[in-house]
Amino acid sequence: MAKIAINIATGSLQQNEVIVGIDLGTTNSLVAIIHPESKKLIAIKEHDSSSLVPSVIYFGNSNEVVVGEKAKEYLISNPAQTIFSAKRLMGKTYNDIRDGIKNFSYQIIDEDDKLVKVKVNNNFYSATELSSLILKELKKSAEHILKTPVNKAVITVPAYFNDAQRQATRDAGKLAGLDVLRIINEPTAASLAYGFGLSNEEEKIIAVYDLGGGTFDISILKIHNGIFEVLSTNGDTFLGGDDIDNGIVQYWLSKFKETANISQQQLRVLAEKAKKILSDTDNFMVEINGIILALSLPELETIIKPILNKTLECSKKALKDADLTIHQIDEIIMVGGSTRSPVIKKEVTDFFGKKVNDKVNPDEVVALGAAIQADILAGNTKDVLLLDITPLSLGLETAGGLMDVLLPRNTKIPARASRQYTTQKDGQSGIVISLYQGERDLVKDNRKLDEFILKGIPNMPAGFAKVDIAFLINADGILKVSAKELRSGVAQEILVKPQQNLSDEDVEKMLQDSIKNAKEDITIRALVEATTEAEQLLNTTEGFIQKNIHYLSQQELLSTSEALQALQLSLSMGDKNLIQLKMEELNAISKPYAERVMDLAVNSAMSGKKI
Ligand code: AMP
Repeated sequence: MAKIAINIATGSLQQNEVIVGIDLGTTNSLVAIIHPESKKLIAIKEHDSSSLVPSVIYFGNSNEVVVGEKAKEYLISNPAQTIFSAKRLMGKTYNDIRDGIKNFSYQIIDEDDKLVKVKVNNNFYSATELSSLILKELKKSAEHILKTPVNKAVITVPAYFNDAQRQATRDAGKLAGLDVLRIINEPTAASLAYGFGLSNEEEKIIAVYDLGGGTFDISILKIHNGIFEVLSTNGDTFLGGDDIDNGIVQYWLSKFKETANISQQQLRVLAEKAKKILSDTDNFMVEINGIILALSLPELETIIKPILNKTLECSKKALKDADLTIHQIDEIIMVGGSTRSPVIKKEVTDFFGKKVNDKVNPDEVVALGAAIQADILAGNTKDVLLLDITPLSLGLETAGGLMDVLLPRNTKIPARASRQYTTQKDGQSGIVISLYQGERDLVKDNRKLDEFILKGIPNMPAGFAKVDIAFLINADGILKVSAKELRSGVAQEILVKPQQNLSDEDVEKMLQDSIKNAKEDITIRALVEATTEAEQLLNTTEGFIQKNIHYLSQQELLSTSEALQALQLSLSMGDKNLIQLKMEELNAISKPYAERVMDLAVNSAMSGKKI
């Protein structure tokens, strides 16, 4: 069975090859390493600059891409072409983010339950593609500073990220030309940076308090024998340092009437400055346009209090969910720029009744921990438990010959994963389940393990069946795949040995191929997905028209027919962006009458009913 330090076993790891740790953040991202020569744990940065790279992408008029500090300048001057908070979109559908849509200044396509797409200059980008642009920039600048190629990485994600969000992060790494050895939880990384979990010490319970600019997360972890278990997470996706800045602005506006003449933007910049200065001193004062603005530490404390209380409420809920009392927490770790504020450190210390861990730079602590994990994977840190893992991803074939991964490569075993699928045709009585192993996006490029058919699905319309497919890999590396149609209960299962006849060289070759072909693979995947989606849209629209033709005007029929033809034509041209554009146009035409017909149907049903 493969071990985590597999790369050494396969000889793929060159001496001193760097594996970087990456904190891919909502606001800022950064890279850290344990330097191969000095063995020092450092965040990578150019001289005299910050290690933080703003997670902002600007698409110029000719689609040139600018990432980081320079892109940030366009947030105000060209918001429609400047993407921030791409991490909030990872693995999300439009329905998931509908309520918060006003927080985004760029265009997000409204497609209900489809994965979010962002439209800039008539090009469509998935959240994965956007994140890959940030990772590409991080890779490039790390290579520039370290003067060595960077091809392997450990990337961190929030503990609450689900499978889809983790997979999207993994794909983003691949698309950026990085072999993502591990996706690890941000609180786990922070704990590693403080040295917790590095030796097979006794059990420890750790609370990781992470207050950044825009989000708050609290995670409770249990570490035992080097294994990290997330007991609970809680938080608020819109709470952080920005709220403190806003609080200061509001306070100034109410206290100094003359401030009304200063722009909000300017006030906010001064508010952040005041907050930061009050982390080191007791008073802040500045003169602007002849007006004196002042803030004292006690005044700041009053402003911070309600924000802080919200974080403590979340912390209480996390403790409750983990079924723990405050006294059972052994260590508290501070993460995120806002925890620099002494008021916050003091209140959190008081809440837990224990001094918090705040020695490591709170902006860098997650990336530094990821670098430690990277070093463990490189086999440089001894004494760390090596766990059995899956050396290649395991998945099945879906529409268009795509690989759908259920157990990603490097999953610790034993492991279980399941997902729901459905039928594509009306009255479909069976589903062929083809199992594959490998890292490529099309199954034809992967290794086929086996195939079986789930038969006996009762007659149902397309999309109505609920087929749950579960992968269970046991400690001996035997994979059991079971499929069950939940409405009827028909079920079938199969046993496979994925590692049989698989040499280390095979694994190595598959990994290299996947990185080499990442760009083409993801382009093909995007095209296949857009094509499948377009074909479904063509079918449903045509079906709808046939059924409701009497309710539509001549003009509606004509424009729909033209849009259908245009979409059909775009399919033959194999251009993903064009297909998306034509789908968007068709949706824009059909949405108003579809809603009207639905309303009619509801009204007539209601009027026929005796209440
Ligand atoms: P992050 O999202 O972790 O990068 O945190 C950014 C937040 O930390 C912003 O709201 C900053 O204003 C805040 N911050 C940075 N430095 C300090 C400081 N010295 N004192 C208080 N807040 C800070």
